[in-house]
Amino acid sequence: MSDGTSTTTAPDPRADLRDRILAEHPRLGPDDPFNFACHPGVSCFNCCCHDVNVFLTPYDVMRLKNRLGIKSGEFLDRYTLAPVQKDMKTPVVILRMQDNEAKSCSFLGADGCQVYADRPWPCRMYPLGLAAQRDTPDGWRGERFYFLLKEDTCKGHDEARSWTVREWLDDQELDAYDEWGEAFKELTLHSFFEHGGILSPERLNMFYTACYDLDKFRQFVFDTTLLQRFEVDEDFVEDMWRDDEALLRFAFLWVRFSLFGEPTVRPRPEVMEAYQGALDKKELYAASAAATGDREAL
Ligand code: SF4
Ligand code: SF4
Repeated sequence: MSDGTSTTTAPDPRADLRDRILAEHPRLGPDDPFNFACHPGVSCFNCCCHDVNVFLTPYDVMRLKNRLGIKSGEFLDRYTLAPVQKDMKTPVVILRMQDNEAKSCSFLGADGCQVYADRPWPCRMYPLGLAAQRDTPDGWRGERFYFLLKEDTCKGHDEARSWTVREWLDDQELDAYDEWGEAFKELTLHSFFEHGGILSPERLNMFYTACYDLDKFRQFVFDTTLLQRFEVDEDFVEDMWRDDEALLRFAFLWVRFSLFGEPTVRPRPEVMEAYQGALDKKELYAASAAATGDREAL
């Protein structure tokens, strides 16, 4: 494993967390075994779905709002919190616990999780945790490894059922969640931030809306002049109209284009001409996107 030596002296809280994880939990590879089972027969059944911080990715939100058959805006209002903190770089969305004494999850029923097939990534992963080595220039996209989370109150670890890590990941259908999680990480760990970039509150809101409030983003795509301003493949436009996953893919491309100046979406030639001469290409992308965003209030 690389030591991930940093050139800065500022303490990195993620490095502290990684070191603590490594010190306290043995690394697990795909073929390493562990015992675990969670079912109505365990004495602690349902006890861990109270007063927990469940961080949601855009893919989690998309799956859950479609499961409930409601719009993303309603889902976000009713079931999530989006805490705003000073110096926050990217949006954070967590599952809102109910306002009762036990602070139970809104999706918890007597029989367990009521949204089980679409439960969020952290609920699928437990009892496994995931960390990455700092062996790439940004320090956080290196080789991934797993570790076992053992809460004293969790009796699932005493069950006889044996798994390998790979079997658990397959059983919990984590591949799609991982793929989307990695794509989202490309945004939240973008080199823009590594180089000291800070998003204004308006741009942070654009980030949040594009990624999490997908039905509002759909209006932005289809009810404004966006598709007249940018070259988007016709088949992809069709897909976006019908399919939330395609729309979310475009949302990620849009964030990379409009907030980080990447050429992931191409302005039509007439838009390019409007800015020609005054700006370099990267600035053009950002200015064009910002103009669209400002005018059409994403
Ligand atoms: S979403 Fe389901 S599994 Fe996750 S905390 Fe809520 S009830 Fe528990
Ligand atoms: S504490 Fe462990 S065994 Fe008990 S309900 Fe939660 S995950 Fe299942």
